[in-house]
Amino acid sequence: MKSGYILIILLSAIFLAGGIKVSELLREAEFYTKLKNDFVRCDLCPNTCVLKDGDTGTCNVRQNLNGTLYSLVYNQPVSLNIDPIEKKPLYHFLPGSKVFSLATVGCNLNCNFCQNWTISQSAPHEVQTYEATPEEIVQMAKDYNCKSIAFTYTEPTVFFEYMYDIAKIAQENDLKTVWVTCGYINEAPLRKLAQFIDAANIDLKGFSEEFYTTYTTGHLDPVLNTLQVAKEEGIFFEITNLVIPNGNDDPKMIRAMCEWIKQNLGDEYPLHFSRFFPNFKLTNCPQTPAKTLKQAYNIALEESLKFVYVGNISTISEDTICPNCRKRVIIRSGYTILENNLEEGNCKFCGETISGLFINEKK
Ligand code: SF4
Ligand code: SF4
Repeated sequence: MKSGYILIILLSAIFLAGGIKVSELLREAEFYTKLKNDFVRCDLCPNTCVLKDGDTGTCNVRQNLNGTLYSLVYNQPVSLNIDPIEKKPLYHFLPGSKVFSLATVGCNLNCNFCQNWTISQSAPHEVQTYEATPEEIVQMAKDYNCKSIAFTYTEPTVFFEYMYDIAKIAQENDLKTVWVTCGYINEAPLRKLAQFIDAANIDLKGFSEEFYTTYTTGHLDPVLNTLQVAKEEGIFFEITNLVIPNGNDDPKMIRAMCEWIKQNLGDEYPLHFSRFFPNFKLTNCPQTPAKTLKQAYNIALEESLKFVYVGNISTISEDTICPNCRKRVIIRSGYTILENNLEEGNCKFCGETISGLFINEKK
């Protein structure tokens, strides 16, 4: 079934469900501090926006109203879809399964290459949104036989309260949860969220502070901290690095990134290099040459990372290779699994355990 068709059915269901009270669309935010004169400081992400009465944060979805900070997007998804889990990308997590995917508007970064800028950079009143409670989201995921629910497309951190409630109910219903994120979140909310997140794809957008400030408006260190805390909290994650010509494609930068991953996270977390296509404010930048991606791939292997993939181009590396016997344990074509040679997470040829989650076991 085509995902567009599924989307129409889902939205019909939501319109029928309808009837959410206005009070349920305006949810007091978590993680903020009340200041003098009805100012507040949002402590959810490293931007730590200080807002006077009436102000909305950088993410467009958290507003100070009379000295109380509210989430403006609770119960209001902007995008709902059923995706292959490989699209997140997650290659070591329930391969071949369907994931119920949702987003609200808003993002705490402003990447000049954003592929979803029409929703990530919008405010709630600027685009058509829908109504769905966490219970309705979980029920739809079950109705469509999805194994997991993903918070994705924009930056889920900014709809923290909605994501958290959905994730909690999802796990109570034996669904897994997936956080697809830029990793720009403060430590306290991350640790709170972690108890209800099974897997994540975390962007490491480049490996210099200059790249982060120039291309994303964020900073590198908070993202590195998120990766380390996610490891500590036992979230299984994969890392994505979008390779942008003349931006973050310097081989020295890529090698330094791989070294940092190896030293601080180990060699088991999959790394995806992704091909850039011109978009948003970077329409004059060419797509990433195949040879640049191949070079990045080779550097990661030289640095002894065990699982390295290249996305948005099918000719370099989309299969999972057993790090012990070097046989192909998962053979892919795009988002499709052609062959799965894993037995309960182990290589069927040599018995090596492959990192990730390959059977739908309880957490
Ligand atoms: S979540 Fe939004 S309001 Fe809060 S600090 Fe980040 S950008 Fe600012
Ligand atoms: S963090 Fe992601 S959603 Fe947000 S602007 Fe950057 S690329 Fe877009």
